[in-house]
Amino acid sequence: MQDCVFCKIIAGEIPSKFVDETEHSVAFYDISPRQPIHVLVVPKKHHTDVAQLSYADPAALVDLVQLGSKIASEQSTGSFRLTFNTGAEAGQTVFHAHGHITSTTPKEPIAK
Ligand code: 5GP
Ligand code: ZN
Repeated sequence: MQDCVFCKIIAGEIPSKFVDETEHSVAFYDISPRQPIHVLVVPKKHHTDVAQLSYADPAALVDLVQLGSKIASEQSTGSFRLTFNTGAEAGQTVFHAHGHITSTTPKEPIAK
């Protein structure tokens, strides 16, 4: 979608720190991390928010949760949050569905 920052990242038009991907989803580091681990998991197709994604493409939502869980198990001790801000008043600022994978307990010390 035009003027969507995450569509531009997925298209390679804006750089990001890539983490992993599947057929349906891509993961990259949040540009301003708020926890020691802060990864965004994003469907490759544009959907406004997680509620819309759940109705339009439930398999893609399951895929996104599985990719996030895999990354969390690789990078953290296993305890993590998966957060979907939904709607501007709930803090959503990018209107392309995405989950925040955050953890305060990295498996390895974070390289500075
Ligand atoms: P929201 O507030 O919509 O739940 O989350 C949007 C997130 O996207 C924010 O945490 C913000 O830091 C991140 N973000 C915004 N623009 C970019 C960008 O260009 N690259 C990356 N990697 N993250 C971004
Ligand atoms: Zn988009």
